[in-house]
Amino acid sequence: MLVSQPANIRYLCGFSGSAGVLLVATSESILFTDSRYTFQAREEVSGARIHIAKKGLLREVGAILKSRKSRTSVAYSSSHLTVAQMEALQAATGPRVRWVKDASAVETLRAVKDDAEVAAMREAAVLISRVFETALSAIKPGISELDLAGRLELSMKRRGASGPSFETIVASGARSAWAHARPQTKLLGKGELVVIDQGAILHGYCSDLTRTVFLGRASRKVRRLYRAVLEAQEAAKKAIRPGVTAGAIDKAARSTLKQHGLDQYFTHSTGHGLGLEVHEMPRIGRDEKFVIQKGMVLTVEPGVYLEGLGGIRIEDDVVVTENGSMDLTTAPREFLEL
Ligand code: ZN
Ligand code: ZN
Repeated sequence: MLVSQPANIRYLCGFSGSAGVLLVATSESILFTDSRYTFQAREEVSGARIHIAKKGLLREVGAILKSRKSRTSVAYSSSHLTVAQMEALQAATGPRVRWVKDASAVETLRAVKDDAEVAAMREAAVLISRVFETALSAIKPGISELDLAGRLELSMKRRGASGPSFETIVASGARSAWAHARPQTKLLGKGELVVIDQGAILHGYCSDLTRTVFLGRASRKVRRLYRAVLEAQEAAKKAIRPGVTAGAIDKAARSTLKQHGLDQYFTHSTGHGLGLEVHEMPRIGRDEKFVIQKGMVLTVEPGVYLEGLGGIRIEDDVVVTENGSMDLTTAPREFLEL
């Protein structure tokens, strides 16, 4: 199997550099990287031989495959290898190698976390929860979305995170209805909803947390919306256990919002797998057949988005246990009026 996606390489052999290709064979595994990573590879890699390529990674992968005595089948991930890379490999190996598409073998393994991974993810989840809690005093009218996002990201690094797991979202007022808004120079104002979606990478693993707060005293309507979203999130969490489909979890959130007449404002899926990458298998969406297993780490993040009024999203990270799920993120979930 030829593994070219960085998170998959890291998962299988520990290498975290940005240039590498891992060839996994029944006899041995070889990590191909270049001379910039000689020392790093020596320190990080286990279970694979290190090959420092001088003429280009794929060309040397091709040369090694071509030198094998028998015909070989090699699996590759069509979602990660470009057409140009595939053509280069085919040219280097010739007809002796049969290329087999295998889109997600490593991703399927990665979906279920072992105890050490769950421990790392819990740490990343607690870290991002603390970042949010300590930022609360800075969330007030007059600070810009970008300023707040910058403070949150600095706070992650000060606590030992290698960085944010995605570009931090701070969206206030009507813009909070944009589910994936980029922070702008806009100042937070009194009487506005503020959606803060942030994650940190710690020990290579991602966290992902959303909280929505209100600046001032909220109307009854806004409070009712918040309660409905929280109820939907709790229903989805309750639906999580080994053996259910991802679609059933999504349905639990969606039908709760439907009872409140709000399902048409819930415009995205309920959550996603989380791990070395911020979005990984499984997707917790409508009709998804993927079966949930113990050890999976998922986000649960229903939301409602009303044009003009704003958006409300509440997101936590949970780990699937023997008979249910457990929260990893610890930030307060009650409606905060600041
Ligand atoms: Zn998020
Ligand atoms: Zn998320």
